[in-house]
Amino acid sequence: MEKFKFVSKEKLKELPKGAGVYALAKGKTPLYLGKAANIQERVKNHFAQPTHRDYLFIKEVTHVGYRETDSDIEALLLESQLIKENLPRYNVMWKDDKGYFYVAITKEKLPRVFLTHQLGGEIRYIGPFVDGKAIKQVLRLLRRAFPYYTAKTHSPKPCSWCHLNLCPGPNPDTKAYKKDLAKLTAVLQGKRISVLKKTRRDMEEASKNQRYEEAAKFRNQLWALERVVSHSLVGPSYSQLGPTKESTRELQKIFGTKKKISKVEAYDISNIQGKEATGSLVVFIEGRPAKEWYRKFKIHITGKPNDFAMLQETISRRLNHPEWPYPDLMIIDGGKPQLSAAMSVLKKSPILVGAIAKQHNELFLPGQPKPILLKTLSQPTQNLILHVRDEAHRFAISYHRHLRSKAVFE
Ligand SMILES: [Zn+2]
Repeated sequence: MEKFKFVSKEKLKELPKGAGVYALAKGKTPLYLGKAANIQERVKNHFAQPTHRDYLFIKEVTHVGYRETDSDIEALLLESQLIKENLPRYNVMWKDDKGYFYVAITKEKLPRVFLTHQLGGEIRYIGPFVDGKAIKQVLRLLRRAFPYYTAKTHSPKPCSWCHLNLCPGPNPDTKAYKKDLAKLTAVLQGKRISVLKKTRRDMEEASKNQRYEEAAKFRNQLWALERVVSHSLVGPSYSQLGPTKESTRELQKIFGTKKKISKVEAYDISNIQGKEATGSLVVFIEGRPAKEWYRKFKIHITGKPNDFAMLQETISRRLNHPEWPYPDLMIIDGGKPQLSAAMSVLKKSPILVGAIAKQHNELFLPGQPKPILLKTLSQPTQNLILHVRDEAHRFAISYHRHLRSKAVFE
């Protein structure tokens, strides 16, 4: 059980409360593997309210192993991989009761993709997946990145899936379609990061060779893949997030979007006397700082300090990391010129952007000549925006202190 951390069953409180895969184990041998959006809560449940299945082995459990993931979707994919590799006794026991789902990819000239319980025939299977509802949802999301066929034949005219960009259409490029299916397969096998990297290379190569339509397709795949990861299967416990919900709604209104704004990034550029300029990035998810995603960029461009160029460098370097889930919204420190600088980098990306000017707490938005005064917004929204901005600033300063003390000591 590679990369698993184990705690004894007396110490369930030490289990993390994030998403991941857990193993109910005898020593380090997993008896049963499961996924959870909240590992600690789920594992405690096995002991507190054992099901009839749990009764079969719960007494044998001495340790609980776990591996955290960035999202519950990744937990779903990892769970499937690990069950296949480890064949834990009490997962395997139910293997044949048709409780498991597999993603099937046919070996026809234009392969079809579908979910099934049954194995057999000239078909490639990925799985097993325990949570049928969740794998259905993931497939639906992935179909946006990698449109596929579900029917054996396609009419010469576009079908209803075609109109939703979920079908490769009546005259597909067979080779490209098969490549897309290979990526889909890899993502389902938990190799999302390598697929992201490959797609990024594909995109760069296509645009270098001026195959812009193809480059645009790969870019859309990147965005769609990002959505798969930032998307949550169960959703956070919104009951505890009253104010967040309110500010999310208000932000949607301000930006004129129906898209849920749950992930926000804020940027701050700072430098000491023009030297050692740094771009700082902080991340908020559902209104809370997500420190594991904070990043710092030592600015490379040299010469006269130029806020705009430094901001552009920071954002474009960040965008080069599709493995860090893209945000719904970016907040930039500054006014209209900073906003335009950021927009020129973001171009057609679906990421929303706003700039917050310190002096009068004004929020500048693309295409709106006048800023919004923060004080006209609801308290939760004001709090969120100011919190995000201040956190970016705090993070930038702490880094500079660190650099400065290093400079002194070296
Ligand atoms: Zn179609």
